[in-house]
Amino acid sequence: MNVRRGRNFLQTPGPTNIPDRILRAMHQPAWEYSGPDFIEVARDCLNGMRPIFKTEGEVFIYASNGHGGWEAALSNILSPGDKVLVPETGLFSFAWSAMAQQLGVTFDTIPNDWRHAIDPNQVEERLRADDKGEYRAVLMVHTETATGITSDVQAVRQAMDAAGHSALLVVDVIASLACSDFRMDEWGVDIAVGGSQKGLMCPIGLGFNAVNERARAAASNGGSPRSYWDWEGRSMSRPEVYRWFAGTAPEHMVFGLAEALIMLEEEGLEATFARHQRLGAATRAAIEAWSAGGAMEINALVPEERSESVTTIIMGEDFDLMNFQHVLRENFNVAVGGGLGQLQGKAFRIGHMGDINEPMILGTLASVEAVFEILGIPYGDGALPAAIASLAAAHKS
Ligand SMILES: *Cc1c(COP(=O)(O)O)cnc(C)c1O
Repeated sequence: MNVRRGRNFLQTPGPTNIPDRILRAMHQPAWEYSGPDFIEVARDCLNGMRPIFKTEGEVFIYASNGHGGWEAALSNILSPGDKVLVPETGLFSFAWSAMAQQLGVTFDTIPNDWRHAIDPNQVEERLRADDKGEYRAVLMVHTETATGITSDVQAVRQAMDAAGHSALLVVDVIASLACSDFRMDEWGVDIAVGGSQKGLMCPIGLGFNAVNERARAAASNGGSPRSYWDWEGRSMSRPEVYRWFAGTAPEHMVFGLAEALIMLEEEGLEATFARHQRLGAATRAAIEAWSAGGAMEINALVPEERSESVTTIIMGEDFDLMNFQHVLRENFNVAVGGGLGQLQGKAFRIGHMGDINEPMILGTLASVEAVFEILGIPYGDGALPAAIASLAAAHKS
């Protein structure tokens, strides 16, 4: 293996760069698990996650990855035999519905070509057609990490209201939380599912459920047999911190999260969104220029639906993705994401989420272009100047 000097550029859409401050916050001995010091940190984190979701509801933290957060949400509100509606967005909507099926829940999907966001009109139509009220929930992915597309949560809520349907709205915000705006309460979301390793800049290892009263009422009358995932068992209304985590807390993950929350507060959530917007726009400007070479284009066809967290670039037929990633990794110490699901081998993804700044994006784009040059992949001129102009314009305004 090559010796790789300098910083590794981890431009994958999860895991993302872990800031040194978060690593240092985690680098300490174990604490007394139920002592007053830890209780204070844990309480601050559980409460401090509410403004991140923009909710007054309770947030539950699991020692799990995002899949754990998914299962927690499903097991609290759905029983075997229940039915849900899952508008397809890409690999993650597919994997989530497969999980629901394994839990005995049946589902209908609204098919999608993976190049467009969820169509709220189709959601309304399906819910209107459900005159027996069989759907217990709509499961939607806010930012689909496979396609680089963000769907309109508020529009889906409005479609549900227009149809007069009582299904719960459950939203996967794993790839959008702390990257682009999400307003749980204002948008009428009943449950939001998050994870620690994307916009929250932490290691993989925490899953989140933000839950409103309506969802909690549904959970207290139903759901599946559950213990570890159970919301009420973990409620902060219970006195012991041991219960908030259904066992000993993942202390070091909580230390990291506490530091992440301080960092987000220092920057300001709206400024964090603006930074993602700026870096996303610069990435897209470069890809638009490359696209003139005829070998690639941005997967998301509708500009307004393009995600601020990740951009998926779809390539022509004879693209050797493995080799592309290999040359980029070995020669430039840059990691980008591969294509997922039906885009496997046909696309790559540039993550622009979490702890990143302008030179990291410019360095990544320049390295990607150098690899196009090395491999003889045709690309249009002017990508870097376009990215630079985009960033300069954002900073001038
Ligand atoms: C990363 C991701 C997941 C899966 O998270 P894991 O931690 O790998 O379980 C789910 N949904 C979306 C939108 C994601 O980006």
